Amino acid sequence: MGGFADLFETFFSGFGGAAAGGGQQRRRSGPRQGDDLRLDLSIDFREAVFGVEKEVQLRHLETCGTCKGLGAKEGSGPTTCGTCSGAGQVRRATRTPFGSFTQVAPCPTCEGSGQVIADPCGTCNGAGLQQVSKTLRINIPAGVDSGSRLRVSSEGNAGPRGGPPGDLYVFLGVKSHPTLRRDGITILSEIPLSYLQAILGDTIEVETVDGPEPLEIPPGTQPATMLTLKNKGVPRLGNPVARGNHQFTIKVQLPTRLSGDERQLLEQLAGHHSSKGQRPPHKSGLFGGLFGKG
Ligand SMILES: [Zn+2]
Ligand SMILES: [Zn+2]
Repeated sequence: MGGFADLFETFFSGFGGAAAGGGQQRRRSGPRQGDDLRLDLSIDFREAVFGVEKEVQLRHLETCGTCKGLGAKEGSGPTTCGTCSGAGQVRRATRTPFGSFTQVAPCPTCEGSGQVIADPCGTCNGAGLQQVSKTLRINIPAGVDSGSRLRVSSEGNAGPRGGPPGDLYVFLGVKSHPTLRRDGITILSEIPLSYLQAILGDTIEVETVDGPEPLEIPPGTQPATMLTLKNKGVPRLGNPVARGNHQFTIKVQLPTRLSGDERQLLEQLAGHHSSKGQRPPHKSGLFGGLFGKG
């Protein structure tokens, strides 16, 4: 179930290749960082186990190519903000029962940049950003689970006024498998056996994430026994050489109807001759208690 989301850095190869990290990050008065984005991605059971490369379509804000993020029409430039005279901050007096305080807040007109766009860029209407559709290839590592989170750095929205881009977070959802389940790095499944296989033992073919594998059923296997195939489970995240196990729970199926021959043989085993009306003895015989009722 993975209630805890694990944070990973993943590798990606996209088109355009924005400068990693967005250059040196200026603080406070500098441009604001862009928003992080979330993308939900559904993958198959086996893809989560072994990892997969996925191509995703992403819409995010990129720096406007026409005005290079400045927001001003070509030839013009940003001008000094009249509200704050370029300081980017305004002082506000706040009255409280204890007196009057002066607070410094970012300028609401220029959002702290100190500059305004008098003649906005036609492409982005002065925002300096434009919505772009992009194809990204994301490498999903082996061993992820539902709730795993991948961080793709710098693929969030670009920051306004040339600010560094945010990150893209990919939230993974793993589709269920018809027969296999997962508990961390252990894979679980049930295998039906006939009572004869359980009693006599057998070698059967079972489904694993690596394909069909032989599984030895020892003679005298009891219902609800767990049998294990080592190293057929999920690779450990971050260390895929180490793998969990596959655990099989034995479901012994008893016949609901017996053929005449089967019944005869079973009654022979139970030490009972199939004369009518007589019940097999309950205290002796292997199947006395099980098949007493016809
Ligand atoms: Zn523009
Ligand atoms: Zn201002």
